[in-house]
Amino acid sequence: QVERTPLIAGNWKMNLDHLQAIAFVQKLSWALKDARHDYADVEVAVFPPFTDLRSVQTLLAADKLSLKLGAQDVSPHESGAYTGDISAQFLAKLEAAYVIVGHSERRHGHGEDDATVGAKARAAAAAGVTPVICVGETAEDLAEHGAAAIPVAQLEAALAELPKGAEFVLAYEPVWAIGSGQAATPEQAEAVARALREAILRARGEEAAGSTRILYGGSVTSQNIAGFMRQPNVDGALVGGASLKSDEFSRIIQFKK
Ligand code: PEP
Repeated sequence: QVERTPLIAGNWKMNLDHLQAIAFVQKLSWALKDARHDYADVEVAVFPPFTDLRSVQTLLAADKLSLKLGAQDVSPHESGAYTGDISAQFLAKLEAAYVIVGHSERRHGHGEDDATVGAKARAAAAAGVTPVICVGETAEDLAEHGAAAIPVAQLEAALAELPKGAEFVLAYEPVWAIGSGQAATPEQAEAVARALREAILRARGEEAAGSTRILYGGSVTSQNIAGFMRQPNVDGALVGGASLKSDEFSRIIQFKK
């Protein structure tokens, strides 16, 4: 069995301007300063809005806490007449390690379909930025198809666009759990994560299935993180609301404590 480094990812969504972002990262660094041994083998990434990336990158470069940087979205195109879009190359230049693709707020609020999500993942991987592919069922999907069918179908559609061998992270985020305060149970998250890992095994083989990290997202807090991290197929968390409070996010990062 391959060891997978846990990843705790903070999705800020459309919160914190670049000045607030600088203050926030400084506060987070302070909160984590004396705690390095409590999260030594945990990878931590923050996903600020585009306008904050440069400021946060500059801070992280000077920081000894090795926080990683990620973006919340990316264009499927390399460059050209795509007003308002941001290319994966631009993100790579800013040393972004990750980019979220297919977040439910993009799928449902901006009409992104599976093919677009797959194309975004492909563009990110081509530029050397690891896509964090988000999948998850709505409450209606859950009632109609059960928990795993839609996330598995979304994953398979994205993988159809992503070249074999490209590294990716998967985030299982039940739409009904995002921002609702009603998290899935660790057992529910594990059951879908296991089905997703089996789908990776079918599509990509044993090595990819063993090494790909699957995160749970949806109302994660410092109170419930440990239960998710105990699940064998859950390798981390994508945290929204609770990543905007430096003390709370720092407690989540130190889930082993
Ligand atoms: C998210 O935005 O990906 C998310 C999981 O949000 P929250 O933690 O607030 O539910």
